[in-house]
Amino acid sequence: MEEGAIIKHNIKKAPKTGEWRYMKPEVDKEKCIGCSTCVPFCPEAAIDMKHETRDMKQKNKKPKADIDYEYCKGCGVCAEVCPVKAIVMRKK
Ligand code: SF4
Ligand code: SF4
Repeated sequence: MEEGAIIKHNIKKAPKTGEWRYMKPEVDKEKCIGCSTCVPFCPEAAIDMKHETRDMKQKNKKPKADIDYEYCKGCGVCAEVCPVKAIVMRKK
């Protein structure tokens, strides 16, 4: 049997896929219900759930989707899967 190899991902060497983007997803933080549905669908792992303020965290409010534009390539998958249409794709 052939032996395989494990290639470890190194974020510092990852290409900045944000340079490919010509459409930009924008999150409407008022509409976002903090469901995290978009997070696992992003092919660039560019979405994190974040509290906008310390106050929100202290009050145990749900964190909202936050996009890292250095790695977001503008594919639009997040906008497609969002159940409340909180993400809108706009021309960059
Ligand atoms: S547009 Fe694509 S790459 Fe950018 S955050 Fe949404 S799913 Fe991720
Ligand atoms: S799928 Fe929509 S509502 Fe859910 S966290 Fe993402 S942006 Fe917010």
